[in-house]
Amino acid sequence: MPIDQSEAIILRTQNFAEQDKLVVFFSREKGLVRGIAKGARKFNNRFGSSLEPFSAVKIFYYEKEKHDFVTISNCDLIESAFELLQDLKISYAFSYIAELTEKFSPYRAKEELLYRLLWIILKAAKTGRAIEYVTRYFELWFLKINGILPDFKTCQKCRKIVKTASWLDPQKEGVLCQSCASEKKIEISPLMQTAIDWMKKNPPTEPPGFNLKPEDWKNLGKVFQAIIIFHLEEKPRTLSYIDF
Ligand SMILES: [Zn+2]
Repeated sequence: MPIDQSEAIILRTQNFAEQDKLVVFFSREKGLVRGIAKGARKFNNRFGSSLEPFSAVKIFYYEKEKHDFVTISNCDLIESAFELLQDLKISYAFSYIAELTEKFSPYRAKEELLYRLLWIILKAAKTGRAIEYVTRYFELWFLKINGILPDFKTCQKCRKIVKTASWLDPQKEGVLCQSCASEKKIEISPLMQTAIDWMKKNPPTEPPGFNLKPEDWKNLGKVFQAIIIFHLEEKPRTLSYIDF
């Protein structure tokens, strides 16, 4: 059987059978892949600590015909997130990021941009960027990559450029201005608009070039999450743990 190899980021693992692990990973070459790592729970196994959530790895696997799961034969650790994820708040954020990636991504479809996004937010978190910032950055770019990031600058109805506060329209396709919005539920303040613009142009490894209070970070999250929930048609399970 030919062996495939790819750089990948482990999204999650769970115990499988007696000594194996089910591993969900996002690879550079094939996007989302699910595999079984045989003997991964044995003491002193060959996978070492490489099969941990958000480990960046080089993964070797082969596919059996008509099987949904690949068989992981080896895995080399490139970068570990083990220390980083000891912080509970960060660990919850990355579980949420993993859930979104798994739920939205088609199975085995190359998505280089998403792979790079996972890499860079991991780097940003490891360089000590605030997790609010890393999470919002992921949400924004995740929406953009999936083609569902609204135009926050133009009113959906009157097509005027929005200069003051605006509100997310009920279809989550854009915003409505002060005079057009009838249902003023999810607000986008000018400050949030500045943050969105900045994050569109700069990498998350840079310190944010804007200043949001904890409440603003949370409200910006509500904007992105409303769009995510609308398209997913359900609330991500891990979102209940995110309180920032
Ligand atoms: Zn308008």
